[in-house]
Amino acid sequence: MVKHARSPRTDSTTPIAVAKPRLPQTDAIVPYLRRIDSARWYSNFGPLVQELEERLAHRFGAQARAVTCVNATQGLTLTLQALNIAPGTLCAMPSWTFVATGHAAVQAGLTPWFLDADRDSWMLTPQIAAEALARAPGTVGALIVVAPFGRMPDVAAWLDFQDKTGIKVIIDAAAAFDAACDARLPTVVSLHATKVLGMGEGGFVATDNHALAARLRRLTSFGFDGTRLSQHTANNAKISEYAAAVGLASLDAWPGDRLRWFTAAQTLRHFPLPREIGYQPGWGRDWTTSVCVVTTPEGAAPELIAALKARDVDTRQWWGEGCHASPAFAAFPREALPNTEILATSTLGLPFYIDLDRADAARIAEALGAAL
Ligand SMILES: *Cc1c(COP(=O)(O)O)cnc(C)c1O
Repeated sequence: MVKHARSPRTDSTTPIAVAKPRLPQTDAIVPYLRRIDSARWYSNFGPLVQELEERLAHRFGAQARAVTCVNATQGLTLTLQALNIAPGTLCAMPSWTFVATGHAAVQAGLTPWFLDADRDSWMLTPQIAAEALARAPGTVGALIVVAPFGRMPDVAAWLDFQDKTGIKVIIDAAAAFDAACDARLPTVVSLHATKVLGMGEGGFVATDNHALAARLRRLTSFGFDGTRLSQHTANNAKISEYAAAVGLASLDAWPGDRLRWFTAAQTLRHFPLPREIGYQPGWGRDWTTSVCVVTTPEGAAPELIAALKARDVDTRQWWGEGCHASPAFAAFPREALPNTEILATSTLGLPFYIDLDRADAARIAEALGAAL
């Protein structure tokens, strides 16, 4: 008998990856690289970083400043430092977040205090925070609100909370490049490759507070303020002109890419999902992001993951069991987290990418239908 080579995998068995980031291609970056060549200015707030910051700030209105930095995790840490939150105080945050939020608080000398999220919005709300405050195991110096997977919280309600409690509120809008447009509270956005607008590694803080922006700038640059004297202890968290080149090329592509993300979401929405599966409100309609996280019946996520895996459809529990469940955060205080525990076993990241096509969308929907 002739031994046949294994037949190539057909389309229907090609694994579907959970994400396929796509950043600007070489040709789109080259004009910016040429500008670097002729300016011979490679870092320390050269013309490309200045242009990138102006264009980013513009998205938040005339009053806003944008301060770029090496990533959103540093952006969160430096924002907490720039706000002069007393070291050792608690930094309240939802456990339903990526571990970066917790790390940032620790790096800023604060103690993460994990609160529960609202069952429906997946966010910390001013109500949940206000109730928890009565039981706080110490002084609360700051609070980080997280925009889960790119959906923005109610900024006005959090401004009100800040006014009433005196607790400084900042927004971890790492995944919310598209939806974040209000800089009344310091808002930290990631430009990581896996986010909706990427430049590899990078991030920025948007704020209407110009003094805060100036402090943040010094914290990203050795505490320098126009002289060689360091004004306070600081970091080096600047981005180079090369990073800004990619960021500017990404911004140039954004109007078209944004439509592509919406189209990808519509492509997935075109195939009706089982009734028990729900998208985040407004996902792919009012705002866009680089992931598709859906709700499934309570506790169903583990079985769905296995069933989809068997059909070569990859999934991801982006935030695991919540930030508090990581060994790194085991020692930090927390409230009871019933909703976070439910979210951990009922939400699921489906495959999603900017060029998701009908064939992949159909397979994702079919696999989900069969699995339920
Ligand atoms: C991605 C993400 C971060 C980290 O952003 P980096 O730029 O990779 O440091 C922080 N918080 C949340 C909620 C995120 O989704």
